[in-house]
Amino acid sequence: MSRRVLIDGLAFGREGGSLTGELQVAALTRLHDLLTGSAGSLRYRAEGRRTDRDRSQLHIEVTGSLSLCCQRCLETLEYPLRLRSLLEFVDDESDLTQDELEDDSRDFLPVDKELDLEQLIEDEILLALPPAPRHEACSLPGPERDLARVSPFSVLAGLRGKA
Ligand SMILES: [Zn+2]
Repeated sequence: MSRRVLIDGLAFGREGGSLTGELQVAALTRLHDLLTGSAGSLRYRAEGRRTDRDRSQLHIEVTGSLSLCCQRCLETLEYPLRLRSLLEFVDDESDLTQDELEDDSRDFLPVDKELDLEQLIEDEILLALPPAPRHEACSLPGPERDLARVSPFSVLAGLRGKA
């Protein structure tokens, strides 16, 4: 199932457009190499705004959960995604001032009359994910792993033994 949500970036900002939707993780194929599973979906909201310099901005929010692969134990790490991005459309990147280029509060995009919103959101997610996700506490895969980890069941078994 794949559909495209195309927006006119300039008009969307000028008219204060607003869109919400759901993205199936299974459809975000560029993320798949980073995931241990592609079940579930993410929610997004996109809002257009017009700046005082008469540029169009796009605010994007994405929430949901992704099954990332822990880079230490290689098991699933449920990652809560809370993405907020601010993008601003410009006719020509050479119009940007040095201050604007150095401003991290937003990114600039070339004006696009047929902007693929879900493609753009997928780009933003790729940029936002941690480069090397890890569980807070876990150990390397291998035979010593069970020794390094205290399972709640073994604690329970110990308690039962004392009772
Ligand atoms: Zn881990």
